[in-house]
Amino acid sequence: MSDAATIATKTYGFLLDGQWVSEGEPFEVKSPYDGSVVATVHRPRARHIETAIDAAVRAFETTRHMPAYQRQHILGEVAESVAARREEFARTIALEAGKPIKTARFEVDRAVFTWNVAAEEAVRIYGEWLPLDAQASTKDRWALVRRYPVGPIVAITPFNFPLNLVGHKWAPAIATGCTIVHKPASQTPISSLLLAGIVEHAGWPAGALNVLPLSGRDAETLVSDDRLKKLTFTGSAEVGWRLKQKAGKKRVTLELGGNAGVIIHHDADLENAAERSVAGGFSYAGQSCISGRRILEEKSVYEKFLAAFVPRVQRLKLGDPLEDSTDVGPMISESDAVRAAQWVEEAAAAGATVLCGGQRRGSLMEPTVLTRTRPEMRVNCLEVFAPVVTVEPYTDFMEAVKRVNDSSFGLQAGVFTRDLTLAFAAYDQLDVGGVILGDVPTFRIDHMPYGGVKDSGLGREGLRYAIEEMTERKLLVVNPQ
Ligand code: NAP
Repeated sequence: MSDAATIATKTYGFLLDGQWVSEGEPFEVKSPYDGSVVATVHRPRARHIETAIDAAVRAFETTRHMPAYQRQHILGEVAESVAARREEFARTIALEAGKPIKTARFEVDRAVFTWNVAAEEAVRIYGEWLPLDAQASTKDRWALVRRYPVGPIVAITPFNFPLNLVGHKWAPAIATGCTIVHKPASQTPISSLLLAGIVEHAGWPAGALNVLPLSGRDAETLVSDDRLKKLTFTGSAEVGWRLKQKAGKKRVTLELGGNAGVIIHHDADLENAAERSVAGGFSYAGQSCISGRRILEEKSVYEKFLAAFVPRVQRLKLGDPLEDSTDVGPMISESDAVRAAQWVEEAAAAGATVLCGGQRRGSLMEPTVLTRTRPEMRVNCLEVFAPVVTVEPYTDFMEAVKRVNDSSFGLQAGVFTRDLTLAFAAYDQLDVGGVILGDVPTFRIDHMPYGGVKDSGLGREGLRYAIEEMTERKLLVVNPQ
């Protein structure tokens, strides 16, 4: 019996006010690879949403006063439990998200790191002491600034990192003492439900974490409810910016899409740049917001780069995400693969050259490299979110910077050059949330400040930075009597 079939017998309830609830319409979570049923999950109803918000508001009265050492302990316990269940989580991610198992294991390791860093940060939420003797009339006064948790938050996550991106919401919330109502992606809710069991077991109070596998539309009730004080959303730009308008007086963090650029100058180590560009463009079938999509290569080494890059892409093994040897698994759905193949076809019909790939079988899209594309083609100007990369030559480095900036998105960019003057000029001029020098834009370590500008989002994650966004400064002015 396949793993998918073994897990198919399992039905997951959802965590609501400290109880596991199996009510509401059941829906099937299916493997994007072969369509087999991975598990059945329940859709909460309107009354469950109300209960979740009430519970988060009530539990906040406990968590806001929970001392840092206790929050740290809970976070550390979660990290340990996730590490102990590494293979179970990796297989769950491979089954529900179709992520190749070796990439899924890496996501689990990242999640452990995320929770461990949050445990460290929980005891470092420092404030400030301010002298107020800047004028004679207040010369004896001074002030303190402390950070307090904003309150109950609503978190919404996408399908592509069903474990680690959930951690990027819950771990900083727990580190600060905020309570949580979470809505995972409908395609991949199981990792978050397994994680919720761990968080509950670690001692986070009943009602302080509620996980509701709602449909997108039903989740809007959470976004517009004023009792929840912050929206932290990761997903597409289209949905994210729409939700911001519905969020009322809430604080909002948006981690959205991208079509990241990579500049490879003639002085770079081309073999290394090619190797890294394969990982950056095709890992998890290109379904990462920071996949390197638009490679710009200095003209004098353009052919040489292609000769290093394309054969490596052709060697990638496409197939079953549960097999250790698979490099590229399915896209999240067949309709997404159909869309990606259409965009490639459309580019080819308009004059682009397909250097490899371009075909699909079901939800499997071949790793595809295009050249002779134009900026206005959808593969370049929109977020293709598929194993599709374009490679184009440039003559002037700063012209390449401009071309990377010629996008509505601005998440991260990668720059390969050994020329420090050019590197710093790129850092200065690139209109993105992060510049990765000597690597692809796909690089992320989970404690760095992460987020975008332009359509790519608002605010930053990366534990310390998420903690800042989940806390409010409160001032105390002291006038000694
Ligand atoms: P999506 O379609 O925007 O969905 C993201 C989440 O929003 C899902 O949980 C979805 O629920 C929910 N949702 C959809 N409509 C909603 C509504 N009207 N109200 C409330 N929630 C709603 O994105 P996706 O396809 O899952 O993920 C891919 C996108 O995420 C890409 O654009 C990618 O670049 C972006 N992403 C960004 C980052 C980052 O850190 N910047 C990281 C990862 C992914 P359902 O699943 O039920 O539809």
